Amino acid sequence: MANDSLDTPLNLTRNALTVLERRYLKRDEQGRALETPTHMFRRVADAIAAAERKFDPQADCDALSADFYRLMTQLEFLPNSPTLMNAGRELGQLSACFVLPVDDSMESIFEAIKNTALIHKSGGGTGFSFSRIRPAHDVVLSTKGVSSGPLSFMKVFDAATETIKQGGTRRGANMGILRVDHPDVMDFIMCKRDQTVLTNFNISVGITEDFMEAVKSNSEYDIINPRTGTVVNRLSAAKVFDHIVDLAWTNGEPGIIFLDRLNRDNPTPHIGEIESTNPCGEQPLLPYESCNLGSINLRLMVRDGQIDWQRLEHTIKLAVRFLDNVIEVNNYPIPQIAEMTRANRKIGLGIMGWADLLIQLGIPYNHSEAVALAEKLMGFINEIAQETSRQLARERGAFPNFKGSRFDQRNEAEIRNATCTTIAPTGTISIIANSSSGIEPLFAVSYVRQVMDNDILVEVNPLFEQVAHERGFYSPELMKLIAEKGSIRDFEQIPEDLRRLFVTAHDIRPEDHIRMQAAFQRHTDNAVSKTVNFCHSASREDVATVYQLAYESGCKGVTIYRDGSRSNQVLSVKKEG
Ligand code: ADP
Repeated sequence: MANDSLDTPLNLTRNALTVLERRYLKRDEQGRALETPTHMFRRVADAIAAAERKFDPQADCDALSADFYRLMTQLEFLPNSPTLMNAGRELGQLSACFVLPVDDSMESIFEAIKNTALIHKSGGGTGFSFSRIRPAHDVVLSTKGVSSGPLSFMKVFDAATETIKQGGTRRGANMGILRVDHPDVMDFIMCKRDQTVLTNFNISVGITEDFMEAVKSNSEYDIINPRTGTVVNRLSAAKVFDHIVDLAWTNGEPGIIFLDRLNRDNPTPHIGEIESTNPCGEQPLLPYESCNLGSINLRLMVRDGQIDWQRLEHTIKLAVRFLDNVIEVNNYPIPQIAEMTRANRKIGLGIMGWADLLIQLGIPYNHSEAVALAEKLMGFINEIAQETSRQLARERGAFPNFKGSRFDQRNEAEIRNATCTTIAPTGTISIIANSSSGIEPLFAVSYVRQVMDNDILVEVNPLFEQVAHERGFYSPELMKLIAEKGSIRDFEQIPEDLRRLFVTAHDIRPEDHIRMQAAFQRHTDNAVSKTVNFCHSASREDVATVYQLAYESGCKGVTIYRDGSRSNQVLSVKKEG
């Protein structure tokens, strides 16, 4: 145990405490918390620092544990949820992201379902490509019957997920991918039109560059039966593209991912091809690979109105060491995952609080200066993360699949981790850190939260609340009015510069969302989690334009959401923008 005198009162909001108490803290059989947040952070810091002993039996784990503890309790860096929940506990499963292979056989499909269950039980999310499964109505040789196709098997995965509530912590999450040249692709695109089915899946169409070029030239492309490898049909690319756009416009799904791009950046093509990502799309992985993520809180990386580069650099270095240690002490759900993860050692360091940082610097999210800063900042994070990983390779050795990897082909120095950076959604950890999530703009400047007994609480963005007091226009009534809209664009009683600075997701043009995503993608080894928000009145053409722009600007995928298009929208303001 590290020195107890390090115990400082934690600066956690009420929301953060609620989330921690409900889902993260160790509890007894009656559900009573057996630890405080302080204990939790200490448990995690000790467990992750203990990895050092594997490399050096004399290592001073207490000193490093104290550093990790400080990093987390000051909310400068937080690892993904499973690490907070499970480190130093019996389960010990620390990764958020997994991809499992699904081959065209009953054994493989049901093996994948069993492994999915084991992963969900431990808090991880799973991604699959269903592209290798033969299409519906194809022959089944052993029974002379007809096959049911990828879609019907997805329902079995969905039902299994529904049944396992992840030990009462999180509901399971899956990503389902089908290649655009699979014979069942049109049905796949439609499969979530009914919003009551496949509720435990996000779906994305795996797009190829050939397909995108065929859309441009308005030509047909080959549809291939994966069982035989033969061309069974040709479809109009524009027609399939419009179908995807139409459904995404209708209710936000399917998303698209650019498979060739994922594979162009695949650091270990000699080990396998990337065919899927994790559930939220930011982490491409090989079959049986897992990845642990962690995010730096940019809200806190500001000093005197400037980015505190020194503090950021220090945080990146510690965070990379933390994430590499996670691979060592992780308890993997099945042996194949342990083997693959230890051989590639992918980590995904990312950020949260990007919108909060911009506000503190006085730069509107949708200004070209913000895009330029995104490039500079993520370029810095990527460079320091890779430098730290190379330092770790000198201390601990390169990742075992290094020989033959892209780094090796380019004669680069050995590196400890096949990938270093990923931008995750930070859905829960940003609540713990009281920061804006990932690289998303603010969702609302102030919003209404319904709490127990139907009490209404108005939650105001802390930076806005502060400036409203400083500039003398704060009033509870105004905050309530803003909560009804979310955006302050039309509030003439608020100074103009602030209306420009505190832009929300719906104030920002979809093209500007994509530009920001593309800027971060250029400096991220893995992918970037980002939702492009559209207002309710956006047209299908608007959506199509953004898809094309994402393709042209080098994004690895796109997720869009048109306000009000789903009945069970997660975040909403009373009135759409
Ligand atoms: P967190 O903030 O809890 O650490 P994120 O919102 O950043 O998590 O999501 C990161 C990844 O964690 C997702 O892409 C997914 O792989 C996994 N994940 C998120 N939510 C769930 C869930 N409910 N069940 C399983 N996995 C999840």
